[in-house]
Amino acid sequence: MTKRTPIIAGNWKMHNTLAESAALIEALKTAGNKNNAEVIVAPSFTSLAKVAELAKGSHIQVACQDVHWEDKGAFTSAVSPVQAKDAGATHAILGHSERRSVFGDTDEILNKKVAAALRHGLTIIFCVGETLQEREANETIAVINGQLENGLKGYSAEDLKGMVIAYEPVWAIGTGKTATPEQAQEVHAAIRQFLADKYGKEYADATRILYGGSVKDSNVDEIMAQPDVDGALVGGQALLADKFARIINFN
Ligand code: PEP
Repeated sequence: MTKRTPIIAGNWKMHNTLAESAALIEALKTAGNKNNAEVIVAPSFTSLAKVAELAKGSHIQVACQDVHWEDKGAFTSAVSPVQAKDAGATHAILGHSERRSVFGDTDEILNKKVAAALRHGLTIIFCVGETLQEREANETIAVINGQLENGLKGYSAEDLKGMVIAYEPVWAIGTGKTATPEQAQEVHAAIRQFLADKYGKEYADATRILYGGSVKDSNVDEIMAQPDVDGALVGGQALLADKFARIINFN
């Protein structure tokens, strides 16, 4: 069985001024990392270059929260993968449920964004997850398999080497409701099975699958104890240095 290095990632969403971002990254740099996790933060675009600069030489890597699918052009307000990389991003979160539901990122659009991130060597953190309605209709696995199938269409295991999957049930994001460790494990195991069927067992065994959805300092340990949970993608508590530090240093 492949040993997978855990990943603890924080999505800062549309929060933090430059000064607040700088203070947060400085605090995290000294917060310890007892599990030798890969620690990633995703600031908003205005803070990306500053945070990347301050994180240089530390154990913390920097992600962007999205990219446009084109490298440049007349796309007012959008940020290209070239610009994100230039600002210091090594990773790109794609398909976050807020991008899907608020900004209309469809599987087809995400497939183009996957291409853009791969073109520029950004490690993809690809988010999937079901709504409450879909869960109650017993459609969870079908929905997630569809998001993976269509969002990643056309790419091989070699192309997608190193990609990270984040399972984020929509009903658990920012709501305070967390999937039980058993619910998370069940879906993570199904995602790993999808990856094995599609890209082979070796690929599936090596791929980190993160759980996201109201991860807190108080529940991270039991979530991380699940065999197919390889890390966490954290929203609210990623903005609080002491809480996020505890999540990084999960037991
Ligand atoms: C997220 O937005 O990816 C997230 C998981 O948010 P929260 O932790 O606040 O639920």
